[in-house]
Amino acid sequence: MSTPPASASESTNAAKPASSNEVRSEALRRRTFAVISHPDAGKSTLTEALALHAKVISEAGAVHGKAGRKSTVSDWMEMEKARGISVSSTALQFNYASSEAPKSVDGVDTVNVINLVDTPGHSDFSEDTYRVLTAVDAAVMLIDAAKGLEPQTLKLFQVCRHRGIPVITVINKWDRPGQTPLELLDEIDERIGLTPTPLFWPVGIAGDFRGLLRRGLDDHAGEAVEYIKFTRTAGGAKIAPEEHLTPEVALEREGDTWAEAAEESELLSASGQDHDQELFLAGQTSPVIFASAMLNFGVRQILDTLVALAPPPRARLAIDDTPREVDDPFSAVVFKVQAGMDTAHRDRLAFMRVVSGVFERGMVVTHAQTGKPFATKYALTVFGRERTTVENAYPGDVVGLVNATALAPGHTLFVDKKVEFPPIPSFAPEHFAILRAESASKYKQFRKAVDQLDSEGVVQILRNDIRGDASPVMAAVGPMQFEVVAARMKAEYNVDPKIEPLGYALARRTDAESTTELNRQRGVEVFERSDGVLLALVSDKWRLQYIQKELPDLTLEPLVAAT
Ligand code: GDP
Repeated sequence: MSTPPASASESTNAAKPASSNEVRSEALRRRTFAVISHPDAGKSTLTEALALHAKVISEAGAVHGKAGRKSTVSDWMEMEKARGISVSSTALQFNYASSEAPKSVDGVDTVNVINLVDTPGHSDFSEDTYRVLTAVDAAVMLIDAAKGLEPQTLKLFQVCRHRGIPVITVINKWDRPGQTPLELLDEIDERIGLTPTPLFWPVGIAGDFRGLLRRGLDDHAGEAVEYIKFTRTAGGAKIAPEEHLTPEVALEREGDTWAEAAEESELLSASGQDHDQELFLAGQTSPVIFASAMLNFGVRQILDTLVALAPPPRARLAIDDTPREVDDPFSAVVFKVQAGMDTAHRDRLAFMRVVSGVFERGMVVTHAQTGKPFATKYALTVFGRERTTVENAYPGDVVGLVNATALAPGHTLFVDKKVEFPPIPSFAPEHFAILRAESASKYKQFRKAVDQLDSEGVVQILRNDIRGDASPVMAAVGPMQFEVVAARMKAEYNVDPKIEPLGYALARRTDAESTTELNRQRGVEVFERSDGVLLALVSDKWRLQYIQKELPDLTLEPLVAAT
């Protein structure tokens, strides 16, 4: 990703303002989502398969060759190089014409714009992952058919639930032996209380993936509407050809295998597992699709489901509880700040998601937190095939802003009508470590670095009088965040901090009245976070339960929990 030349047009402020209708229809055709999964469930493979179906790339497989996998980030960069498409580590945007939707409505093409926002993979699993979920309108929960629900998927799912993000479930790797479909659904229902409502049911057990039975909706609930039979392509490199067959022909072709699938589909209806759009949007049910990202089976169905069922960008509530409608003047929320993407420039890139109005590159916007103007002449995206700069972006789109030093996750940008969105909640940290300056002579630099990384939200910084300022405590969702702190302090501030793990495992919100008593307890220490919130760190959950039982009057409230 390179910085565009300064000579690029800066006169877009003069452009004709977009009509409210235009913004609304641009918002309506957008779907902004993330894939939540445990490492190895197939997120990179699926991303590539989605790009293949959207015709962004012509062949899958070249990137994720047989010789092992790289991280998603580098896959996307490789993709960018290999195919000349424009991808960033943060968002992939493509047009998609659903085969289900009418080709045009009132003479307007019904091509959808899909924004796939990347969640960092396991190697840099951290609070960033959660923040990304504040930028999407829906999530695809990708599950390995053999492994079922795995820890990271569960954590991310809880965040979706907390934020009210509707979830579409994709059971991947159906081409390999795995659990039975009913077992997988039971697990989802029982462990996370989400009712799975399959839209497509597999024909053939895991390991013998022949195709999908499309289940009827509404008045046709429980019926097998059609059989979509897939044909493998060499190495799964191309879109898998589909035959659409009637249930009668399906029975002739597949015999008992079809009959079994049809019977199971009826069983699901008998237990109320049919899609209901309202319950899905309310986060109570989840449409399910069985797929093989590797063979490109079921991938088109995932895209069509996103288009048909996932919500488009909608109004967002501001801090004063008034809605910012999609056709209000431009506003956006910063959800991620990335430093040092371009090693030559040591830049900082802030990614924002457009909430309302039209973003035009060159616009001067207001940074709500400081009230200061911010010039966006270096706005980058990902968008389409043009890998240059972004000219326009609409609600749901993601734009990267270069050298945005004042911007931090949760910040608001706007024009005209003032707005400030609520801050991104910081998630319950589970890892704690003491940060020490290597020597007193570097203390000033150390302090500066700590403040900067704290304000960027790289880790949460906690202090108390006992430990003093020279050894603050870092709190993080994932331990990788500590390594990021160490690496950045070294690279950007020339200080080499010492990091010592601290033996606490939980954080609870407390108050001044409870502090003295809590500090008297074994395995507990109270700290103040830089936003003023008092946090009690506790050694383990048994200790916490004990204190809650013995001293019920003390305030110990859960933070937004990741687990
Ligand atoms: P990520 O860590 O979630 O991004 O997972 P990857 O996309 O890197 O996939 C992990 C491994 O699973 C790789 O070896 C993939 O080739 C393999 N894989 C992904 N999807 C499928 C699938 O649908 N079927 C099979 N058999 N293997 C798959």
